[in-house]
Amino acid sequence: MTRFHTAGLAAIMTTALAATAQAQGTPPPYATTKVDGTQNVYIFRFGGHQSMFIVTPQGVIATDPIGLRRPAAKTYIEEIQKITKAPIKYVIYSHSHFDHIAGGQPFKDAGAVFIAHRNAKARIDALKPPDVVVPDQVVGDKRNIALGGTTLELNYVGKNHSDSTLVMRLPKEKIIFTVDWIPLQGVQFRGMADNYLPDIEEGLKKVIAMDWEKLIPGHPGPGGRQTGTKDDARAMLSYLQDLSAAVKKAAEEGKCYDNAMRDVKMPKYENYPNYGAFLPMNVERYCDFYNRGI
Ligand SMILES: [Zn+2]
Repeated sequence: MTRFHTAGLAAIMTTALAATAQAQGTPPPYATTKVDGTQNVYIFRFGGHQSMFIVTPQGVIATDPIGLRRPAAKTYIEEIQKITKAPIKYVIYSHSHFDHIAGGQPFKDAGAVFIAHRNAKARIDALKPPDVVVPDQVVGDKRNIALGGTTLELNYVGKNHSDSTLVMRLPKEKIIFTVDWIPLQGVQFRGMADNYLPDIEEGLKKVIAMDWEKLIPGHPGPGGRQTGTKDDARAMLSYLQDLSAAVKKAAEEGKCYDNAMRDVKMPKYENYPNYGAFLPMNVERYCDFYNRGI
């Protein structure tokens, strides 16, 4: 086949694939959405990751660049600039995990100040990942960012999915953005790597006690749902408490690990799409807690 024909066929196939994807309801590779009921709060989604950003007359507060091995940050900046030409003043990291925070250099080049919890900076300083911008400033337990009439609270509620997770809260809009530990209609991811037990349950109680109505997580839920409510946080706390009780019993009966991973079932949550794949790994994590104290 000639080069021309190969290229032509590739173009036809690409078009056909795109048409098929559209017909099947596959979402486009990225999208920017204004959060309902707000004037200036947006969600930037790239693939299965998402970040919150806030537009004010004095500049933009952005969060996670989500640019690990992909050009998300460049697209993210272009999407912001379709809405405002005001400068991007801040980039705030949700926690230390690279899939959310890598790739921020284009924001740095544009002059943004990077902020993270102090434990995130310590982790980045220790591991020195080449594509993660080192935070310029750190947060301890609490800090408020005020810009152009908007206040964003940065709260630390203890260890949960990492030891550096911030709960970012917009008090006026009653919105929180916090990543990876309060999934929408899902069990916890795989083996709950880097999670702290039982601290995550205590953190959930603190988040539920805060004043907010809408949750923006770091990943959309089933059906592409991008925001949740306090019911999602309550459901996650119930899930972890139920899981903890079930695995505690299994551990006491000497069933950890293999028998517990096979036999512990949580029928109340079996409609969660990732239940079948991840429940045994969640059980394994709690077996570690009850058998080995970690
Ligand atoms: Zn994470």
